[in-house]
Amino acid sequence: MNLYISFTHVERRANMPVIKVWCLPPNQNEEALNRLHQTIVGAVCKIRELGFRGQEDMTCLFVPDLMQYGLGGKIIIEIGGFFNKAERTPGFCQRLALSVGTSVCNLYRNARVECFVQTFDPVQGFWASPEPERCPECGGRVTRNGTCVKCFSCNWSQGCS
Ligand SMILES: [Zn+2]
Repeated sequence: MNLYISFTHVERRANMPVIKVWCLPPNQNEEALNRLHQTIVGAVCKIRELGFRGQEDMTCLFVPDLMQYGLGGKIIIEIGGFFNKAERTPGFCQRLALSVGTSVCNLYRNARVECFVQTFDPVQGFWASPEPERCPECGGRVTRNGTCVKCFSCNWSQGCS
């Protein structure tokens, strides 16, 4: 079995794209996956309208494939988690698919690559944990107990007796 790393951000914001990569060639090492990850991030950031700056704006998952047969022949990339918005036209989605698909193709020249971009309407089913509260001084995580809010990174507090 191939054990691919899953790259997930703990502080994931709601409605960031989720990029899933399937059927990579077997035995990808950490270095190869990092290179692939950076390539995908760069290809997504090239689509300027997104206003993305880097890997913190998306989640990239390298999914373990349980069957080795056929791996690496065809690499499938799914880009989901995009809300339907007026500016996310078919042309936009097409450029995103092209940018990510061709850059992954350049890394894995023996593979055929398919990239799907899927937008969705959040009213049809979406929920996310609320954004964590942040310390106004240092940006660290705060804990709230009634009216008392405390930061454990810098000792900032408000409303505590
Ligand atoms: Zn703080």
